Amino acid sequence: MEAAAASEDCCVKVAVHVRPLIGDEKLQGCKDCVTVVSGKPQVQIGTHSFTFDHVYGSTGSPSSAMFEECIVPLVDGLFQGYNATVLAYGQTGSGKTYTMGTGFKDGCQTGIIPQVMNALFTKIESLKHQIEFQLHVSFIEILKEEVRDLLDSTSLNKSDTASVNTGKVNVPGKPPIQIRESSNGVITLAGSTEVSVTTLKEMSACLEQGSLSRATGSTNMNNQSSRSHAIFTITLEQMRKINPVVSGDGSHNDIMSEEYLCAKLHLVDLAGSERAKRTGSDGMRFKEGVHINKGLLALGNVISALGDEKKRKEGVHVPYRDSKLTRLLQDSLGGNSRTVMIACISPADINAEETLNTLKYANRAR
Ligand code: ADP
Ligand code: MG
Repeated sequence: MEAAAASEDCCVKVAVHVRPLIGDEKLQGCKDCVTVVSGKPQVQIGTHSFTFDHVYGSTGSPSSAMFEECIVPLVDGLFQGYNATVLAYGQTGSGKTYTMGTGFKDGCQTGIIPQVMNALFTKIESLKHQIEFQLHVSFIEILKEEVRDLLDSTSLNKSDTASVNTGKVNVPGKPPIQIRESSNGVITLAGSTEVSVTTLKEMSACLEQGSLSRATGSTNMNNQSSRSHAIFTITLEQMRKINPVVSGDGSHNDIMSEEYLCAKLHLVDLAGSERAKRTGSDGMRFKEGVHINKGLLALGNVISALGDEKKRKEGVHVPYRDSKLTRLLQDSLGGNSRTVMIACISPADINAEETLNTLKYANRAR
């Protein structure tokens, strides 16, 4: 039994999303080997049992419940100035892209990102008389520790050619995108496209363009999308005018003061976890030449360091610098930021080993 009690004050919330058996699995005669314990955030596979903050089964309509319980608090936090990160983790085919809504083909309204956009604009609409808003969007991909801009339309074709020839993902002549940290700890991406958007339609267009760019890249590059992390980032800036204060003697203080808040939300469709499994208990048997995803490895270490209260109190070093992924997310993981990891799993018996690995990784994050 690997069951653990859910803790309230952990800075990282972990949810499990079990997708239904899909056509292919049914054709192969796969059996459902994952049990969601009814009324409890608990999932069982074989003799193993895990408890998380939330578990969403393949029946009912998990997407709206998941959104309300896991994501809405992050969107609300954004308006209070808190950065946040949503991570979809799991093996290729487990439903990460479906869950996040970063699939161009599925282009669905049911994914998390389209729902975030709706919620964001609804809230902005209701507040726009008191507050001035500015929204920016960026959409990048990290592949083999290199950052690729999914919103740079000029890089779409060129980078494919470049990568076929050189194995590199950046456009020749264009400086590589760099992750920078300002003196106050704010992380920025130098050289990536930041699109200023004012409508839901404009923001959706960015999601669509980047998802298409990622999909196009992947057909030409040996299905790289399963090996890359796609990060859709929404930055919300707010200028709130604070009314002049009326003093005790009835006179007005004419100086209008302004409150400025800036926060960002990273929505991450992580690389397939199947290549990270060798870093677990059988890490010693790891052979040279097998690519370990550096980002997933570092993310696991960062999240586990953040989740360990004892370590945090002792001021243990959080290894953000070990990968581009964790470096980029540094100011949005831990501290005052809110993080939700959604572990996506397939219920099929042929995937049981990977599913168990995913649940173990997610369990470590708590
Ligand atoms: P990943 O991004 O983890 O590789 P995908 O999101 O592409 O996985 O999902 C793999 C397949 O399963 C796709 O055909 C997708 O449409 C389907 N799928 C994933 N999640 C669900 C779900 N919750 N309900 C129905 N079909 C799903
Ligand atoms: Mg995917």
